Amino acid sequence: MARLTFISHRKPLNFYRVSGRHRWCRPTAYRRVLETRRVYKTVSGRALYGPATAVLYTEKAFMKIVLANPRGFCAGVNMAIECVERVLELRGAPVYVYHEIVHNRHVVERFVRQGAVFVDTIDEVPAGATVVYSAHGVSPEIRQRATARGLVQVDATCPLVTKVHNEAIRYARQKFTIILIGHADHDEVVGTLGEAPDSIVICESVNDVAGIEIPADHRIAYLTQTTLSLDDASKIIAALKAKFPRIQAPPKEDICYATTNRQTAVQKLAPECDLVLVVGSQNSSNSKRLVEMAENRGTKGYLVDDASGLDHAWFKDVRTVLITAGASAPEDLVQEIVKLLEERYGATVEHRHVTDEDMHFELPLSLRKLEEHHAAIT
Ligand code: SF4
Repeated sequence: MARLTFISHRKPLNFYRVSGRHRWCRPTAYRRVLETRRVYKTVSGRALYGPATAVLYTEKAFMKIVLANPRGFCAGVNMAIECVERVLELRGAPVYVYHEIVHNRHVVERFVRQGAVFVDTIDEVPAGATVVYSAHGVSPEIRQRATARGLVQVDATCPLVTKVHNEAIRYARQKFTIILIGHADHDEVVGTLGEAPDSIVICESVNDVAGIEIPADHRIAYLTQTTLSLDDASKIIAALKAKFPRIQAPPKEDICYATTNRQTAVQKLAPECDLVLVVGSQNSSNSKRLVEMAENRGTKGYLVDDASGLDHAWFKDVRTVLITAGASAPEDLVQEIVKLLEERYGATVEHRHVTDEDMHFELPLSLRKLEEHHAAIT
């Protein structure tokens, strides 16, 4: 519904200053201006001494959505999803996937509908069947057990996770004690730990640092999970450096480009917003870190799987909402939320580009070989 009134950003409604050139028609925060007109009379019919600005505005409160960019799928997730799609195409259902291919409920449910079977142990995969390893990677023990069962293995591990595995192997060979900063129960950390279990100590928080005892003559290095919080990791690394001044850092940052870019966008944009919505699943480490990043900057954040997870009480007195998505969250779920806020709150969208991102990963060798084999026999 639209309404014509006189406004001044200094005076109450219906009070105006008369001036032909005076620019005073700034809309109030909740009103979206539809049209401005020069008028000579007030709404009550009182004559003016000169023209004033009248503003036609919507009575519907409006909201601004700040849409963070980059957000959503990273190169590793794109590659892992394409692996499962191609294996389903090549081999037909069922295709077994060891652990969730990426930590997103919708991605997993969509694949289940297409015939993928997600398993938590290799023993659940029938001998001789095809198994895809998730983007988070697996330990060598899992590969050995799969080989022993005669499984066809397609490795969708993100190359940036493989890089951390290789660093762990290299440091362990050089007799380092490795402090792996990460969440002990996360698939990625479990896989990396499996590369050198006797050389790795896991450190989850600054509080853990005090309890780490390493003989003085040992060489020490640290590695990190790829999806850690930049804030937390820097605090833990500072505490480790204070306790072990000769600790070696990885040759190249382990926290991946996608985690860094999405967190940096929230770091920059959250302070100008009243609320942050992160699209992602509860078991997605990088999505949870985005909520924490917002809250560390003083803006309330919520993690939602999709539009059905929104609670409209959150939007009371909210004018600006930052929307972003974890690296495993599909874009259609983001757009569903944007559409809902447009329809319900008259929201308008502002796209905010914080960092360029053009990373792409090749499909893994194991899949390319499978495709060649399939082409040769058909
Ligand atoms: S979040 Fe980073 S490490 Fe994880 S799959 Fe994406 S690019 Fe790879």
